[in-house]
Amino acid sequence: MSKGHRRKRAIVVGTGAGGSVMARALQGEYQVTILEAGGEFAPFSMPIDKLAGFRRTGMFFDERMIRMLIPNMLVEKTKDMVIVRGIGLGGTTTLATGNAVRYDGALKELGIDLDEQFDDLYRELPITTDHQRNWTETTRDMYRVFEEMGLDPVVTPKFLNASKCVGCGHCAIGCPTGAKWDTRMLIDEALGKGARLVTGCRVVGLEISGMQVTGVHTIRKGRKVLYRADLVVLAAGGLGTPVILEKSGIPCEKSLFVDPVLCVAGPAPGIGQDRQLLMPFISQQDGYILSPYMDYLSFFFNKSWRLPMKDMASIMIKLSDEEKGYTDGRKIDKVMSPADHKKMAEAVSLSRDILEKIGVPRDKQFLGTLNAGHPGGMLPLTAAEKDSLHNPALPDNLYIADATILPKSLGNPPILTIMALSKKIATVLLQK
Ligand SMILES: Cc1cc2nc3c(=O)[nH]c(=O)nc-3n(C[C@H](O)[C@H](O)[C@H](O)COP(=O)(O)OP(=O)(O)OC[C@H]3O[C@@H](n4cnc5c(N)ncnc54)[C@H](O)[C@@H]3O)c2cc1C
Repeated sequence: MSKGHRRKRAIVVGTGAGGSVMARALQGEYQVTILEAGGEFAPFSMPIDKLAGFRRTGMFFDERMIRMLIPNMLVEKTKDMVIVRGIGLGGTTTLATGNAVRYDGALKELGIDLDEQFDDLYRELPITTDHQRNWTETTRDMYRVFEEMGLDPVVTPKFLNASKCVGCGHCAIGCPTGAKWDTRMLIDEALGKGARLVTGCRVVGLEISGMQVTGVHTIRKGRKVLYRADLVVLAAGGLGTPVILEKSGIPCEKSLFVDPVLCVAGPAPGIGQDRQLLMPFISQQDGYILSPYMDYLSFFFNKSWRLPMKDMASIMIKLSDEEKGYTDGRKIDKVMSPADHKKMAEAVSLSRDILEKIGVPRDKQFLGTLNAGHPGGMLPLTAAEKDSLHNPALPDNLYIADATILPKSLGNPPILTIMALSKKIATVLLQK
């Protein structure tokens, strides 16, 4: 760089799936400042068996209280369901079960080719199905039942160092051995290249002049701070980014999807499903997926879930929902549509059949709490934006690189796809 030439400044908001990739890619060409609302991730560290004993006392009566156990897990409620996301370093990826699934069909339909970006990610990240070698007898039996029922289970690729995994089943509440990979590692790489990170810094709006964003308004420790930038990339997640845009006078669409999740469970004495990797395999059905999953929210907060974890079998349904919903930051307006309910009823019936085959009597089965953790879609990409990856309603130097721009509900784990998309957007920005 010639003397006197100022390096351009970029601000990346958020450290989850989209933000981490973007910050790492831009640092160097830009001087990147990463603004993150939360702090360091703190895993669940209390003995689950002891805490489970308190369920009968009625102490756990509202899912939003989960923050007392897992401080980085933010739970909000809509009329129909509980919505979960991660606030803190690593975003929601720290709470993820580590599924690394490519699911970019809807983007391909728009003409967005992410082959190169997925190839890069497969090379760069620890994505593996090696965990299959360590499956417990219970996992193998469940897999066999899925196969016998013609449900075509597929071993889930995981962001994982399989040799470090002890199969404790704590993937979604903070992996205790560091076996599960999350995006904090990418943030570390960005910092190693010279990026700056400001945690506890909530972005509340953008300063816009004509078709240029000139700064980012934040609140940190009760104080307002304005960050100036030449380029701003929002990656505050499917519920965070739309609120920043709305507060800055840029309306989003009422097309929020969330991928609703419901677990069907029942008594299976001694099955030990709590001591297995969560979602070890996935069965793709028409509009939903099925996978073995122990649901902590239902376990602590749903009155039907009173058995010890080790004595329960549980199958998760994850639905691809209709893209209808909205948030303005004060509330989340999202309900299951009639079509969603119909699909969910089919999925519940099939899950009941699976549990019966596993040995859980149908009349003893019960449902979990309807919840969701894949919000997105409120400023979806269109075919017209396939090359620019930029919505024309945005200022020229403002980009979005998170689930907000996904065109459709995936009904599938989205991290890998969001990361590939963010990588592609970074390439466009670096070529500009
Ligand atoms: C329990 C659970 C398990 C999951 N498991 C999987 C899985 O196994 N595989 C998978 O692919 N997906 C999984 N998901 C979903 C996945 O984690 C998310 O869809 C994905 O992380 C979304 O990426 P993102 O970049 O859009 O947002 P996020 O990863 O949520 O990142 C958003 C970031 O922005 C920050 N932020 C928010 N608002 C502001 C603000 N105003 N100012 C500054 N910073 C802000 C947040 O703190 C966060 O760091 C799971 C979700 C949950 C809830």
